[in-house]
Amino acid sequence: MNEFAQVMSRYDWHQVKESFESISELQVVAALRKSQQGLELSLSDFKVLISPAAAPYLEHMATLSQGFTQQRFGHTMQLFVPLYLSNMCSNICTYCGFSMENRIRRTTLTMAQIEQEALAIKAMGLDHILLVTGESERKVGMDYFEEALGVLSKHFSHISMEVQPLSTLEYARLAKLGVESILVYQETYHREKYAKYHLKGKKSDFDYRLATPDRVGQAGISKVGIGCLLGLEDWRTDAFFVAAQLDYLEQTYWQMRYSLSFPRLRPCEGGSEVNSPMSERELVQLICAYRLFNHQVELSLSTRESAVFRDNMLKLGVTTMSAGSKTQPGGYANADKSLEQFSIDDNRSVRQVASMITSKGYQVVWKDWQTGLNQY
Ligand code: SF4
Repeated sequence: MNEFAQVMSRYDWHQVKESFESISELQVVAALRKSQQGLELSLSDFKVLISPAAAPYLEHMATLSQGFTQQRFGHTMQLFVPLYLSNMCSNICTYCGFSMENRIRRTTLTMAQIEQEALAIKAMGLDHILLVTGESERKVGMDYFEEALGVLSKHFSHISMEVQPLSTLEYARLAKLGVESILVYQETYHREKYAKYHLKGKKSDFDYRLATPDRVGQAGISKVGIGCLLGLEDWRTDAFFVAAQLDYLEQTYWQMRYSLSFPRLRPCEGGSEVNSPMSERELVQLICAYRLFNHQVELSLSTRESAVFRDNMLKLGVTTMSAGSKTQPGGYANADKSLEQFSIDDNRSVRQVASMITSKGYQVVWKDWQTGLNQY
């Protein structure tokens, strides 16, 4: 059992879930006072801030979140775009359009197609890409990644990856090839329910996935992004475990940087039901609570959310946004929507998102500023 699995074993999922209902407004006021005084918040304080009792204090939370974010990140917003390399997948995940049992057309981009995608993305003005694949080690494994990174590193100064969990040695190889960050979401921290959503393939190994950020840290990659798929199981309980894992990772791999994302379950081919619906207001509450809990962590909001919502969140804690996204392999050079993983909500172009950001007095960051500093 890895160390975070041991941390998790101290908690009972159902007790954590039930505890949200007994949190009082007095506890909320106490946590907010602590935050206002600049004191560090504990995991228990975080739990208080995402409880139903904290909902009436959203405005206060948003003001504090805005202040802490501006202090740490200034008036900036990083933009990136996902580049889907393949929709091949050897797993069955009940909530995903790429799931192995779904009868969709499968494709893996050739190096020539990757080059075309790179040129199309560069023409959009972006310099930070997130490489995404399904999880098919046989078809899309390390050899493929190496070749693809050879093509893409000529075009982009910041490359992140969201692919199948790899070994420490493989992450170390990716670090040498210039990969700056790895995103890996646990989807849900409910161990028993996890097995019901992940029916087949390597992803059904809960513990291997849970220990992935540790392997990323041990391999010396600069940043790891974690999160859960909000809506699969009780979102408050899952969000609590994300915060607990962040806390554990920061204490264990203090030299790494961290980002959090908040994907809400979206409609897709053969998709599963949303068990724990989360309103936009609740998502704001969660984002602000993460910021109050951790002033340094990057908070990333994708085009799964609507344009109006993203515009409103710009000042309230978020530091990174995707823009102009396509969720199908080859989607930038060719608009075949039948291959997409899930539908997106904010369909604006990169130029439109960038001008919204500048119109609100913020500066667009086209590539991660840390890249250069890492060399010294
Ligand atoms: S969530 Fe990932 S691993 Fe699961 S089916 Fe989709 S692409 Fe494959």
